[in-house]
Amino acid sequence: MANNERCGSCAHFGEGVPERQLVELRINPAADDAVLGGCDLAANASINLRVSAISSCDQFQAA
Ligand code: SF4
Repeated sequence: MANNERCGSCAHFGEGVPERQLVELRINPAADDAVLGGCDLAANASINLRVSAISSCDQFQAA
Protein backbone atom coordinates (compact mmCIF):
# COMPACT_ATOMS: atom_id res chain seq x y z
CA MET A 1 0.00 0.00 0.00
CA ALA A 2 1.37 3.38 -0.94
CA ASN A 3 1.48 5.78 1.97
CA ASN A 4 -0.96 8.16 0.29
CA GLU A 5 -3.61 5.46 -0.16
CA ARG A 6 -5.43 6.27 3.05
CA CYS A 7 -9.17 6.44 3.65
CA GLY A 8 -9.03 10.24 3.87
CA SER A 9 -7.92 10.37 0.22
CA CYS A 10 -10.36 7.69 -0.95
CA ALA A 11 -13.48 8.36 -3.02
CA HIS A 12 -15.48 6.07 -0.72
CA PHE A 13 -14.70 7.99 2.45
CA GLY A 14 -16.59 10.78 4.09
CA GLU A 15 -20.16 10.07 5.10
CA GLY A 16 -20.86 12.26 8.13
CA VAL A 17 -17.70 14.35 7.74
CA PRO A 18 -18.20 18.09 7.10
CA GLU A 19 -17.22 19.08 3.55
CA ARG A 20 -14.48 21.51 4.62
CA GLN A 21 -12.81 18.88 6.77
CA LEU A 22 -13.15 16.35 3.97
CA VAL A 23 -11.27 18.63 1.59
CA GLU A 24 -8.45 18.98 4.13
CA LEU A 25 -8.28 15.25 4.70
CA ARG A 26 -8.14 14.49 0.98
CA ILE A 27 -4.98 16.57 0.78
CA ASN A 28 -3.52 15.29 4.04
CA PRO A 29 -5.24 12.28 5.68
CA ALA A 30 -3.06 12.75 8.77
CA ALA A 31 -4.41 16.28 9.31
CA ASP A 32 -6.91 14.89 11.82
CA ASP A 33 -6.45 11.21 12.58
CA ALA A 34 -9.22 11.31 15.19
CA VAL A 35 -12.01 11.93 12.70
CA LEU A 36 -14.22 8.97 11.79
CA GLY A 37 -16.22 8.79 8.58
CA GLY A 38 -18.37 6.31 6.76
CA CYS A 39 -17.16 4.25 3.81
CA ASP A 40 -19.71 3.89 1.02
CA LEU A 41 -18.15 0.78 -0.49
CA ALA A 42 -21.15 -1.59 -0.54
CA ALA A 43 -19.68 -4.25 1.75
CA ASN A 44 -18.59 -1.66 4.29
CA ALA A 45 -21.71 0.50 4.10
CA SER A 46 -23.85 -2.57 4.82
CA ILE A 47 -22.17 -2.95 8.20
CA ASN A 48 -21.94 0.82 8.85
CA LEU A 49 -18.16 0.66 9.02
CA ARG A 50 -16.58 3.85 10.27
CA VAL A 51 -12.95 4.42 9.46
CA SER A 52 -10.37 7.01 10.42
CA ALA A 53 -8.75 9.17 7.76
CA ILE A 54 -5.49 7.25 8.15
CA SER A 55 -7.09 3.79 7.83
CA SER A 56 -6.81 1.89 4.58
CA CYS A 57 -7.91 -1.16 2.64
CA ASP A 58 -7.12 -2.72 -0.75
CA GLN A 59 -10.27 -1.23 -2.31
CA PHE A 60 -8.78 2.26 -2.16
CA GLN A 61 -9.87 4.50 -5.01
CA ALA A 62 -8.36 7.95 -5.35
CA ALA A 63 -10.92 10.72 -4.77
S1 SF4 B 1 -12.11 1.39 3.88
FE1 SF4 B 1 -11.17 1.14 1.85
S2 SF4 B 1 -12.79 1.71 0.40
FE2 SF4 B 1 -13.36 2.51 2.41
S3 SF4 B 1 -12.65 4.61 2.49
FE3 SF4 B 1 -11.04 3.29 3.36
S4 SF4 B 1 -9.67 2.80 1.65
FE4 SF4 B 1 -11.60 3.55 0.81
